[in-house]
Amino acid sequence: MHFDPDKYKVYTWKHWMLLHWIINPGLAFNELVLGQRVPRVSLLDKTSEKPLIERTLIPCPHCEKLHDGRTWSTQNGTAFRNWFGLYCPACGGIIPCLTNGLSFILLALTAPLWYAFRDRLKARWLEKQPARYRDLDVASTPNPYEDLGWIRIGLGWGLFMYVFMTFILPFFYGEDLSWKQAVIGVPVWAIGGLSFGYAMKRLFGKKEKVRSPNTE
Ligand SMILES: [Zn+2]
Repeated sequence: MHFDPDKYKVYTWKHWMLLHWIINPGLAFNELVLGQRVPRVSLLDKTSEKPLIERTLIPCPHCEKLHDGRTWSTQNGTAFRNWFGLYCPACGGIIPCLTNGLSFILLALTAPLWYAFRDRLKARWLEKQPARYRDLDVASTPNPYEDLGWIRIGLGWGLFMYVFMTFILPFFYGEDLSWKQAVIGVPVWAIGGLSFGYAMKRLFGKKEKVRSPNTE
């Protein structure tokens, strides 16, 4: 697909945020268990003055529709369970997604276990998709970071990281739980979570206009 470079900024795996999706092994959990996926290509409308979250578009390579990025979001209940990719509600195709490095290795190693069932699982998954998008009103999706939403999201993320880093990771590495670390972790991840939430609020609320084609 070709995109007008004057109107859109194209993001692929070369962007640090998407590269992070590939190289951070922790995100294999999001991908394989939760079914959270990141499309291979996303666009930023450079000509719009709306907040970033409303200017992000995801193109479907099958029907070429430019979807509002919020089509697949927690607020619409469509952010997860996308194991086979992002379902395009316009044409029923599947928008190709990035694969996390660790997911790729795990999928390759376990392929003998699931490969034979892949087509059947995919068909069953596809069957359930249209209903998830039927009554979606994407344009009125609220910004989850607005008002005090960033605090809730930030603390939720901090809590997840706290549990993961303090209890789950040492367990897998065969290390003993340290109470000192468990206590210190509470303020550290609370502050970390709030900073994360605030950074996301700033990022998604960004209204900076890159360049308007009319003023060139
Ligand atoms: Zn499509």
